[in-house]
Amino acid sequence: MTANTAPVLLDLEPLGAAHFARVEDKVAALMRTRESVVAMQGEALLPLEACIRSAVRPGSTALNIITGPYGETFGGWLRSCGAEVITVTAPFSGAVGPEQVAEALRAHPEIDFVSLVHAEAATGNTNPVAAIGAVVREHGALLMLDAVASVAAEPLLTDEWGVDLCVIGGQKAMAGPAGVSAVSVSARAWERIAANEQAPRRSYLSLLDWKERWIDGGRTALPHAPAQLEMLALEQAVDRIEAAGLDTVIARHRAAAAATRAGVRALGALSPYVTRDEDAAPAATTLRAPDGVDAREVVAAALAADRTVPVQAAAGALAKEMIRVNHYGLAADRAVVLASLSALAAGLRALGITAGGTDEALEAVGAAWDAVLEG
Ligand SMILES: *Cc1c(COP(=O)(O)O)cnc(C)c1O
Repeated sequence: MTANTAPVLLDLEPLGAAHFARVEDKVAALMRTRESVVAMQGEALLPLEACIRSAVRPGSTALNIITGPYGETFGGWLRSCGAEVITVTAPFSGAVGPEQVAEALRAHPEIDFVSLVHAEAATGNTNPVAAIGAVVREHGALLMLDAVASVAAEPLLTDEWGVDLCVIGGQKAMAGPAGVSAVSVSARAWERIAANEQAPRRSYLSLLDWKERWIDGGRTALPHAPAQLEMLALEQAVDRIEAAGLDTVIARHRAAAAATRAGVRALGALSPYVTRDEDAAPAATTLRAPDGVDAREVVAAALAADRTVPVQAAAGALAKEMIRVNHYGLAADRAVVLASLSALAAGLRALGITAGGTDEALEAVGAAWDAVLEG
């Protein structure tokens, strides 16, 4: 970027308390919550860890639902807080069902905290939070939801679903910054946190600090210098979504997932990793590599054909078998999905792998895209 096109990032007017509170309110509206929303000055892992350390203590029993890599991380934090951890897992090719959760709650009535990831960008699945939330609410445990990869990509009804601690970040479907995040905290969750002697205090991980030094004082004085640039970027991201219409932004993400899946099915050789359409995350589509072919080779060949497409190999243990096509934020776009399918088709051809025709695959992409946006 040359000097004369660089955005002006320096010497801005200070971001005051009223403006900070206004950004929090806009985020709360996007999350469909009337509970307190705290903007946290770090990437979304900060509020996720803050929620667990604030609400969980020795003697707690937590149900940790694992449908991807973030669930594994939560399990480690829960144990380090002294909680007994019960784990429910779903294969990465599907979602967790409310009946599985109900069964775990019945078997362990002492469960007082449930952690769940809404959608997993890393594994491409999404979980039925409304139904799971109803089961958790009936049992009486607190529900923490990682909605980083779902907010603005699919409906997120924080209060209606009974989510006590809901964490979002700006960097996925919101097409915003990664350096600030937000968490909504229900009245029930505040009670639990206030009663937890182990909850972080005078700490970057402290939700209570924000309550006592910011919310309880009517949000008139900021406890720290705000992360000004990131807050302004978060506000612009929310404003841009509101201007386009949240439903329209969500529809673009749904269309991108449907189009990617349809294109891959028409192309062959690759297949959607998540089996059922309703379990597929609108933010990213994961694909299974052909038998005997390393997914990383397919990704490298696709990127050699077009290095601009948001196609990547999965991380960790899945790297050999899973390909990830991201279509969140500005990439939830017809042209981007078409380019991703073209690049994958060209990559397969370059590797000598037999697949269907590129034209047919691109036609399927376009038809599926239109069916969602016109349906
Ligand atoms: C992306 C994402 C996060 C945030 O993690 P990053 O490493 O910053 O990308 C947290 N949770 C989920 C489910 C995510 O998809």
